[in-house]
Amino acid sequence: MRITVWNENGHERFEEEIRALYPEGMHGCIANFYREAGHEVTTATLDMPEIGLPDELLDQTDVLVWWSHGMINEVPDEKVKKICDRVINDGMGLIVLHSGHASKIFRKLMGARSGHLKWRVAYPPEIDDKEIVWVVDQSHPIAQGIDEKFILEREEMYGEPTLIPAPDELVFLSWFSGGEVFRSGCTYKRGRGKIFYFRPGHESCPTFYDKNVQRVLLNAAEWAYTPPAKPYKYGWSAPVVE
Ligand code: ZN
Repeated sequence: MRITVWNENGHERFEEEIRALYPEGMHGCIANFYREAGHEVTTATLDMPEIGLPDELLDQTDVLVWWSHGMINEVPDEKVKKICDRVINDGMGLIVLHSGHASKIFRKLMGARSGHLKWRVAYPPEIDDKEIVWVVDQSHPIAQGIDEKFILEREEMYGEPTLIPAPDELVFLSWFSGGEVFRSGCTYKRGRGKIFYFRPGHESCPTFYDKNVQRVLLNAAEWAYTPPAKPYKYGWSAPVVE
């Protein structure tokens, strides 16, 4: 499977503490565990030419993993359109991480006007919330290998309600130590493409080193993969029954 891990790479470039936590960037950390699992992985960041995603790379991507936060306007609308087209018409898998729910790409695919939600993040990090990620669909392929729950000792809080459409399948539900809850693992189908939104992954937390998080993202890539379409004849068609 050809996986492209695409990251804004803004926090890692501009903030020393984030660089210290993810010296290879979050994309580097994520790419490492996909590579170890045997996938062909390319990393891409917004500071690269063509924001890291020339059309040739997109055309050769089976599953795109997208970490996005505050730099959403750096992704031109033509690229958003191309990515959505790859998902809907070609079946490219899409894994949207953390604040990516507010990205132009996710909102276009969901028909959502905004990415509004409740949030709380703490500096210094010692007073961050604890997050318990509960598995609510134990039979789902993305939850395989995960116990009934896993705990992230420090994460940003995201709270409901959030303006996303009801997922096709809810795989995870998060509880935060401040009392809020959030739909943390949501699947959607758009045309031929499968989309997975996964909430954890705030840049100042070591979330992508967590083995359960890595298991979820490995499972999600397998789940989101759609084999290439067989050639199909459209248009006028003779009756198939005499
Ligand atoms: Zn965050």
